[in-house]
Amino acid sequence: MKVKQAFRFELDPNQKARMALAKHIGAARFAYNWGLARLKEALEQGRPFPSAIQLHKEWNRWKRENAPWWVEVSKCAPQEAFRDLEKALKAWREGRANFPRFKRKKSLDDNKARLTGSIRVTPRHVKLPRIGKVRTKERTDKLLELIQAGKARILSATISREADRWFVSLICVVERPGPEPREVRGPEDIVGVDLGLESFITLSDGTKVEAPKPLKKALRLLERRSRQLSRKQKFSQNFRKASLRLARLHRRVRNIRRDFLHKLTTWLAKTKPVIVVESLNVRGLSQNGNLSQAIHDVGWGMFRRMLEYKCQWYGARLIVVPQDFPSTKTCSHCGEIGPPLPLSQRVFRCEACGLEIDRDWNAALNLWQYGLATLNGPTGSSLGSNACGEGRFPSLKQEATGHLFRLKG
Ligand SMILES: [Zn+2]
Repeated sequence: MKVKQAFRFELDPNQKARMALAKHIGAARFAYNWGLARLKEALEQGRPFPSAIQLHKEWNRWKRENAPWWVEVSKCAPQEAFRDLEKALKAWREGRANFPRFKRKKSLDDNKARLTGSIRVTPRHVKLPRIGKVRTKERTDKLLELIQAGKARILSATISREADRWFVSLICVVERPGPEPREVRGPEDIVGVDLGLESFITLSDGTKVEAPKPLKKALRLLERRSRQLSRKQKFSQNFRKASLRLARLHRRVRNIRRDFLHKLTTWLAKTKPVIVVESLNVRGLSQNGNLSQAIHDVGWGMFRRMLEYKCQWYGARLIVVPQDFPSTKTCSHCGEIGPPLPLSQRVFRCEACGLEIDRDWNAALNLWQYGLATLNGPTGSSLGSNACGEGRFPSLKQEATGHLFRLKG
């Protein structure tokens, strides 16, 4: 089985390499914003959007007249930026994302450049087009061995800057042994996963997984520091100091989060043959302007991406419910659909049957039922008739629910 895999190394660049890296990242960001300005222009004037190729052609003309010094930058940095822009535009047109926004120098995720072409690794260096050999902080042995054995091929390199540190992420096609086919024996092999603000995830078997304490602490600090920074005088000495501190904190949050999510998604994909999740409504989520919500969105997006490829690696099946599936307001016992629940309401109460249950668990149970119905449906592989007894799968529910679950009347 061929999969795409990223190998990330921290770089230890000398002065010259640092300059070259910074130039490429700056050029990628500049080109992206330049292209975005043209897209916005087209949108306002009602013209069709230029494609990545058209943008790149126009960019070359523009560059000759306005920025001839950019010959030092590999042409793939702007080219890849235009491709990203095209992808972002497509996501917006299909309703999966907001309209692309301008990249900012101070934002951690905006300081990246993707390079293609001749990329090589040696035990302690990465050789990049135009930039040349850059020393890595760790050894590259693991990747190097795969390449030498013909089991990995480098597609592209993304260089990034996080505060005062530099990284390269090498995207490779890697030959991995195919997963063992996983057998689905019954409803107990299906798990519904609800993503929440209170607990990071709640499973349909009643398990709650909390984000690790250091992450929660760092996230709270992140919210506070972001607010503080927004009150500081821009470009003052204090502002600069505070933004560097904030960038470091962003980095720490990202590292703890990445580590936690890797462990969590590996565990899920290895132990659960069928996993049912909600489709993430990115547009709806990040538009309410709530900072803590925005910070959570990042974690959810990361969780989903990791879960997707790990399910492939370990042979688990991922079922994504449609966006309009009312997982939070449906009663997991009788199927009655109630009014929407405000976020603050932690307990789901059903008017029809009197069920009182933890809100997230109720949502996870609905996802689980959706998964069960999908597998039992005309296109799914049947689980046999005794998988769901009478009513809406009462046997499993009574077993799994225990203390959180209470039925009135
Ligand atoms: Zn009910």
